[in-house]
Amino acid sequence: MKNNIDIENFKPSYLENLWDDTAAKSYGSDDVALLVYRSNLLGSDLRITNFAGGNTSCKQVEVDPLTGENVDVLWVKGSGGDIGTMTKKGLATLYLEKLHALKKLYKGIEHEDEMVPLLAHCIFNLNTTAPSIDTPLHAFVPHKHIDHLHPDAIIAIAASKDGKKITQDIFQGSVAWVDWQRPGFDLGLKLEEALKKNPGIRGIVLGGHGLINWGDTAYECYCNSLDLIDTATKYLEERYGKRKPVFGGVNTKSLGQQARHDKAASIMPTLRGLCSSYNRMVGHFTDDDRVLEFVNSKDLETLAARGTSCPDHFLRTKIRPLVLPLSAESDISDIASVKKQIEKEFESYREYYESYYNRCKDENSPPMRDPNPVIILWPQVGMFTFAKDKQTARVASEFYINAINVMKGAEAVSDYVGLSEQEAFNIEYWALEEAKLKRMPKEKALSRKIAIITGGGGGIGRSIAKKFLEEGACVVITDNQADRVQEVYDEFTGLFKKDVVASCTADATDENSIQEAYRTAILAFGGVDIIVHSAGLAISKPIVDTSVKDWDLLYNVMVRGQFLLAREGVKIMEAQELGGDIVNIVSKNALVSGPKNIAYGSAKAAQLHMSRLMAAELGAQKIRVNSVNPDAVIRGSKIWDDGWAQARAKAYGISVDELPAFYAKRTVLNEEVLPEDIAHAVFAFVSGQLKKSTGNLLNVDAGITESFPR
Ligand SMILES: [Zn+2]
Repeated sequence: MKNNIDIENFKPSYLENLWDDTAAKSYGSDDVALLVYRSNLLGSDLRITNFAGGNTSCKQVEVDPLTGENVDVLWVKGSGGDIGTMTKKGLATLYLEKLHALKKLYKGIEHEDEMVPLLAHCIFNLNTTAPSIDTPLHAFVPHKHIDHLHPDAIIAIAASKDGKKITQDIFQGSVAWVDWQRPGFDLGLKLEEALKKNPGIRGIVLGGHGLINWGDTAYECYCNSLDLIDTATKYLEERYGKRKPVFGGVNTKSLGQQARHDKAASIMPTLRGLCSSYNRMVGHFTDDDRVLEFVNSKDLETLAARGTSCPDHFLRTKIRPLVLPLSAESDISDIASVKKQIEKEFESYREYYESYYNRCKDENSPPMRDPNPVIILWPQVGMFTFAKDKQTARVASEFYINAINVMKGAEAVSDYVGLSEQEAFNIEYWALEEAKLKRMPKEKALSRKIAIITGGGGGIGRSIAKKFLEEGACVVITDNQADRVQEVYDEFTGLFKKDVVASCTADATDENSIQEAYRTAILAFGGVDIIVHSAGLAISKPIVDTSVKDWDLLYNVMVRGQFLLAREGVKIMEAQELGGDIVNIVSKNALVSGPKNIAYGSAKAAQLHMSRLMAAELGAQKIRVNSVNPDAVIRGSKIWDDGWAQARAKAYGISVDELPAFYAKRTVLNEEVLPEDIAHAVFAFVSGQLKKSTGNLLNVDAGITESFPR
């Protein structure tokens, strides 16, 4: 192999050699463990490969469980998954000999897809991890350790008009070139052929796609990957701005960060609504420097129209982005007129997508999918991405940044070429991709929904947040106590994906603070669908002892807070035009008149009636407003702080510990009411099962006859 790397002292200039000898030695000579170790190192750097992009393998002799004989087995990353987090379980195992035997059955490229089900016949040891379509690339290259990666620096060359020549120029014959071809059985054969023609090479650039390279040991393969990418990076770095200015030069300047975020927050719910015309979407916003350099450039429109090149980029980002024709300086406070303007852009994007589908389809093509854009670029501001969930939207954004890097590199050394329209279509509507989509698990009840909850640090609010997360929602937790917010945020990001939780310390009584909470929701997820006002506290005093301060505090948190939260949220829901749910946590005291409860009881009654008034007003926009009436939820509740529990216990002549049983006894069902019970009631309203229910009240008090609604 023409490889001059000094692997003993290997230190790349741009990338980092993360190989830790002590860690590696702990795996001994277990090549599979070393493969997992190497893969995780490679996948930890997005410059080396994009999320879930590329695959790695090794070949090892194993004992056949059936015959007891030694056989050659290919261990290769299975279908799906990401090499950065891959474990041994993510590897498919196949008999190498059987894989080679498949060549006899191969009838040519038009029958290529027929080879895919045959891979299952080559599985070793009943492994249930499905082999990916890239398996033949690893099987037919006769080296022990192989990396197939999607590094931006290499794709930049692979997507250049003179990619083949540049590859020769950079690697001086030590790396071969294979023209663009969809990954699969045939590409595996092409690689085998290239190796026969060019013995001793250290890797192959796959036109329009990426890199494949190898090594005799896991470490040698790792060094080879890093060195090839590093060399390409150096080549590009030395050429940026030399042939022509980066992206044709600067067309416009970015706004300041605060202004960018203001603009993004004011328009994102509208964009989300338009992107959700077929199916509700969740959003992601970024104003990463690389994005700003691209969106502010002279070549933005031309390059954006060329689409992306690497099939991975393309599948995640769609054929091309939508560039907003708005000037960031223009006044967008009149959102209705801005919306009209953007709506036109969306319509022409959808028409364009439909015509692309019609031009490229054949009689076997699956039906047209959602024609809305995934990537939306706004010069001076940044990039919005929309997808079925937050992770997919974030990853689409990362992929477009990969694509931007690729265009930047390619344009520095040559002309950037995207995939041809037909090739792009063949990948997007490939029968195997369609099958993958059909295998997706059923979505959860609150998938694609964004919820905001006040009082999220307390027992009830926290329980509701947890239930929503379990049911697939993205959740913004707010509370007026920063430490509680942090505690719940830490707990939930540990239990659920970090992507789906956001938090904001917010005072429900303060207009600006509520607006800030929604800004957090918008910049994190794109808007809001479910609003829950759970913030509350209780003060129980005789009328003559109730101070104005007591009165104002209760009314500010519960009544004014509910009003502000709803008012600001409805503005966002109106921009989205996707309807919504508002659920207010009230109390049985909204209906039951008891002594020593003048301020709390009347504030709760105001909350209940306000909910009904809102239901009456907002129905036309498909915004439902309902209330849940809990009673005596003791565990974890904030209202029991400040001496309330003690006061109640004293009033009844019992200890605080006896309160739950005492309250249970007062109920028809003789049950204690728990925060989870309230969470389930709120979920019932927003789960989609009660779509025709608004202005309603649901008691969750284990049955108190005085509070039965009339
Ligand atoms: Zn690939």
